Amino acid sequence: MARILIVGAGGVGGVVAHKAATMPCFSEVMLASRTAARVEAVAAQVRGLTGRELATATVDADDVPALTALLRKFRPETVINVALPYQDLHIMEACLAAGVNYLDTANYEPPEVAHFEYSWQWAYKKRFEDAGLMALLGCGFDPGVSGIFTAYAQKHVFDEIHYVDIVDCNAGDHGKAFATNFNPEINIREITQNGRYWEHGRWIETKPLEIHQGVDYPEVGVRESYLLYHEELESLVKNIPHLRRARFWMTFGQKYINVLSVLQEVGMTSITPVHYNGMDIQPLQFLKAVLPKPETLGENYTGQTSIGCQLRGIKDGTERTYFIWNNCDHAACYRECRSQGVSYTTGVPAALGAKMMATGLWRRPGVWNVEEFDPDPFLAELAHWGLPWHFLLNPLLAFSP
Ligand code: NDP
Repeated sequence: MARILIVGAGGVGGVVAHKAATMPCFSEVMLASRTAARVEAVAAQVRGLTGRELATATVDADDVPALTALLRKFRPETVINVALPYQDLHIMEACLAAGVNYLDTANYEPPEVAHFEYSWQWAYKKRFEDAGLMALLGCGFDPGVSGIFTAYAQKHVFDEIHYVDIVDCNAGDHGKAFATNFNPEINIREITQNGRYWEHGRWIETKPLEIHQGVDYPEVGVRESYLLYHEELESLVKNIPHLRRARFWMTFGQKYINVLSVLQEVGMTSITPVHYNGMDIQPLQFLKAVLPKPETLGENYTGQTSIGCQLRGIKDGTERTYFIWNNCDHAACYRECRSQGVSYTTGVPAALGAKMMATGLWRRPGVWNVEEFDPDPFLAELAHWGLPWHFLLNPLLAFSP
């Protein structure tokens, strides 16, 4: 039985806390974050819905000595980092100092540049290896289950995967004029960047939201889907041999794009500080402060998310296609843990990844991405913990080679 420490009490942290509280492999679950009120609100919800009492703490994860002290006192086996990407390296440092394993759902991004890549965290590989500790990177849905689905197809369906298109649709309606489904600052930094995909051994850059097409999603129908750069592309092209092309697509409604364009045009998505009333204010951080928080969207959210991988490759010399996906209902997430589907589809894999580590099914010193582990034990439990998955062999894909 392992103790587990969750850092971050936002939309995703709430789901991880609910799920970890119901996993018998965790003897004690602590939730720690920067703002005490958010920690206590989640702890009260978990108590009400599961009957389990969480340990709680307030910590600034950027303060490495303070976090190290908390880890030394609570002695968890693993930290589940569901704070923001800015905290990744600080939390990894504290884990090394205190001898604790690490798991996250988003790769490191420096606050001052809207740029994310794995190199910063992969550079920790030897230090984790030498310490006999494990860091599991990107164990949400995408990144996360998207890589595990691809690893499963590599293991069971193909000799060689040549084309992967990750397709991410949120067909839900939260009834708000404008809101993002996970942290607004991180979300808007991601969407307003140039797009990028990998083809024939090199990265090809596109303008933000420049390439788009309709994709038919299960139980949802055709939705316009936009090519974005997403971090699992970087690890998949490294870890899945024979790939010729890897892309990521996400749906956005026209209204969302219109509002985002206006906010961009008037400078509200900028991360360059503006001097106002005697202080420096970052417009995007101010915008984040006025937008709804992800954990407040769940109550009247209707509709589903649908996220999966469309794959093409060969088996025994013959071309085949494969589609593997999950659909998740926002209202069901709210009934179960007062969350919405985007937080839920991220939080469930994070808690399950920590369970894989605690039970020894995924355990190897070093720094790893999810597709580097056996997908079978993870996918064997994913439906049980709330995310049923489906597949079709040789469907007509949305994309040609
Ligand atoms: P929220 O903004 O709702 O929550 C973030 C939480 O982190 C808040 O409780 C915040 O505290 C806390 N936090 C921020 N800075 C610190 C700090 N220095 N020390 C301690 N706690 C801190 O975000 P989400 O829950 O929506 O997202 C969480 C993470 O999940 C993000 O990294 C996001 O990128 C990732 N994600 C991954 C997905 C995937 O599929 N892989 C999909 C969706 C999200 P405070 O209240 O004080 O601000």
